[in-house]
Amino acid sequence: MSGVGILEAPGADCAPVLRERGQREVFCGLTGIVWLHRKVQDAFFLVVGSRTCAHLLQSAAGVMIFAEPRFATAIIEERDLAGMADCHEELDRVVDRLLARRPEIRTLFLVGSCPSEVIKLDLSKAAERLGTKHAGRTRILNYSGSGIETTFTEGEDACLASLVPEMPVAASGEGPSLLLVGSLPDIVEDQFLRLFAELGIENIGCLPARAVADLPAVGTNTRILLAQPFLGETLSALTGRGAVHLPAPFPFGAEGTTGWLKAAADAFGLDDMQFNRVIAPGRERAKRALERQRERLDGKRISFLPDSQLEIPLARFLATECGMVPVEVGTPYLHRSILADELPQLPRGTRISEGQDVDKQLDRVRADQPDLTVCGLGLANPLEAEGLSTKWAIELVFSPIHGFDQAGDLAELFARPLRRRDVLQV
Ligand code: SF4
Repeated sequence: MSGVGILEAPGADCAPVLRERGQREVFCGLTGIVWLHRKVQDAFFLVVGSRTCAHLLQSAAGVMIFAEPRFATAIIEERDLAGMADCHEELDRVVDRLLARRPEIRTLFLVGSCPSEVIKLDLSKAAERLGTKHAGRTRILNYSGSGIETTFTEGEDACLASLVPEMPVAASGEGPSLLLVGSLPDIVEDQFLRLFAELGIENIGCLPARAVADLPAVGTNTRILLAQPFLGETLSALTGRGAVHLPAPFPFGAEGTTGWLKAAADAFGLDDMQFNRVIAPGRERAKRALERQRERLDGKRISFLPDSQLEIPLARFLATECGMVPVEVGTPYLHRSILADELPQLPRGTRISEGQDVDKQLDRVRADQPDLTVCGLGLANPLEAEGLSTKWAIELVFSPIHGFDQAGDLAELFARPLRRRDVLQV
């Protein structure tokens, strides 16, 4: 497919955006199962896909030995692809067998893939049919993790969006509640919950909840704080239920985390003195940790290829808190409203690109010669072979990077490849 480069007219709030469509090099949405199955502990993810999908999951998840795994692939065989078998009957049999053997599964996600989409297997119909059959025991939901025209973090977005209709209705007379949206490692989520409790915000829920059975309620008094920038579909499902989005920077670094917490504090009418008193120790810790990394990062040029959708908040963090110079910041999709607090903080002259035409992007990286390029696994090796230092984008999704206490580790993830390069050059 040939790429088209369109320079979108600069908006009032940010630099011009180079829009591209062409060949892409990204993982698919099935990857999200790797972190979601750890997070949502009463759920099982059944991918309806091919052997390729099964292999992707196994290799993304690493070598795991579980007594009772919480994801699996129902393989669509070649004869199914040729339309020779009734896939729905076969799928029903697989689900019946699974639930008979694993009665503790309370929520089953049927996860669509490229093969299931190609043969037009309607998983929403299957979820409805199987949901009725297993009603009262197992809730059956579906979403797509397919790699057709999607990128890997959209798997989480699609999964969370499928949970929104399952959330109870918040009673209309209830006071305001805060909803943290986006999967975070438990340890990081707990740090935030402690901070919110100290701030006096106690009516708080998380999506995803650690168990689908404990999904928080949602309604017009719900205020949404996004913890991840790639949740556009989930956000619109939640606002469709009356909840209100709190615009905020994302909680990366001392300042990003402060701004994120402040958005909630302001929405709940907390006074500045109390806010500053509660967050000061964490903010100071984060600043001290960042000082140590800034030495190595200051003035270094960085390019992001579009991959996780974390690119813009991370580039903002690296520029404003670590002194790095973003050259090109590529993102698969530019959700302007979600990133409204981030885009104006990028330094003037930062080239922002949306979408991907991988060959053109690699040509720009070669011309720019940044000190560090953040990209997918498939592009890292060729770039390293050309003498460019790289960082795997997916590592940023798998690592705890949000919040005050992770700020130093986040900067260290970018400092490490630069240190390695310096050692190799000596
Ligand atoms: S869903 Fe598509 S892109 Fe993902 S592993 Fe399966 S075939 Fe490959």
